[in-house]
Amino acid sequence: MISAQGYAAHDPHSPLVPFAFERREPGPHDVRIDILHCGICHSDLHQARNDWRNALYPMVPGHEIVGRVAAVGEQVNKFKVGDLAGVGCMVDSCRTCSSCREGLEQYCENGVTFTYNARLRGSDALAFGGYSDVIVVDENFVVKISPKLDLKAVAPLLCAGITTWSPLRHWAVGVGHKVGVIGLGGLGHMGVKFAHALGAQVVMLTTSPEKAIDAVRLGADEVVLSTDRAQMKRHARSFDFLLDTIPNGHDLNPYTALLKRDATLVLVGALTELTPPLSGGSLIGGRKRIAGSAIGGIAETQEMLDFCAEHGIVSDVESIAIQSVNAAYERLLKNDVKYRFVIDMATLKTAP
Ligand code: NAP
Ligand code: ZN
Ligand code: ZN
Repeated sequence: MISAQGYAAHDPHSPLVPFAFERREPGPHDVRIDILHCGICHSDLHQARNDWRNALYPMVPGHEIVGRVAAVGEQVNKFKVGDLAGVGCMVDSCRTCSSCREGLEQYCENGVTFTYNARLRGSDALAFGGYSDVIVVDENFVVKISPKLDLKAVAPLLCAGITTWSPLRHWAVGVGHKVGVIGLGGLGHMGVKFAHALGAQVVMLTTSPEKAIDAVRLGADEVVLSTDRAQMKRHARSFDFLLDTIPNGHDLNPYTALLKRDATLVLVGALTELTPPLSGGSLIGGRKRIAGSAIGGIAETQEMLDFCAEHGIVSDVESIAIQSVNAAYERLLKNDVKYRFVIDMATLKTAP
């Protein structure tokens, strides 16, 4: 076994603390990655604090992982020692169901194996995530990272990037579309960059007026303060597509009112109940659609990373020491991050 060091949550209320555990030695199809950087997704906070009522402790969060390949199994042909590599939200799936066969492993009908807060496939052992120094993953769930990009700023692409890229591509967003991104956080700032790069007219819908300048810098053509009814009214029935990244249950009605006939609002943020109730009339009166979307498949993740390398797109990050992870969680809750915290894993070796 490989000795690993990381930070873990042990219950919903206590801070994350240093944690020693073991990883398997690489099997024939496995890649061992020495982790260099790991992003902090709002999902890490939800899961560490058991917001989704499915927490398994001890929990080593982290699913925005980039690092360098340190060893490969004898059957591995996609990677060699020294390559840069990334791991996102999934480390395995059944590989045989229709979703897996279509490259949509995130919708595996037999249950995808998430990177953490999950049990390893065919085992009772817990899966531990990227707030750690090393990870061992089947090569089919590892993606290639271009050395052209700033590595720490690539890490958030593995979740925030693919979660916004996938719906924009699935709904074929591009030139001639008016697209709204709701919430300028980790996901939202990638949504703005991608929608802009795909040629859409981008409107940032934010509750934070002080983020307007950044929104424009990131690629928004216009900024709307979503708490200002007059501003929202000016955009009524005008959007082709809305990407909603708000992390908690919220009122969808002001947003469905912004959709054109036949337009779609895609939820990626709230995984819990949405309140107050949704007005049926608002949807019926314009043949509008509300949809959801989860991360993206492995092939699609590689496509997104290749697009980023070609267009020089990365996340805007604040690099932190792992010892600051609990302070970072508090700042994330206060909406005080521009626009993704990324843990510099070299700091694991310094005193706790
Ligand atoms: P984040 O960095 O905290 O950003 C969320 C943004 O939403 C905030 O910056 C804020 O933007 C806005 N916001 C926060 N609370 C709000 C409220 N009560 N009402 C209205 N707006 C609010 O979070 P993130 O990492 O982007 O994650 C967003 C959500 O997506 C989380 O729930 C996460 O679990 C989920 N997620 C889903 C998937 C998936 O596969 N579907 C993947 C990754 C993450 P403004 O200041 O601009 O208003
Ligand atoms: Zn995530
Ligand atoms: Zn499957």
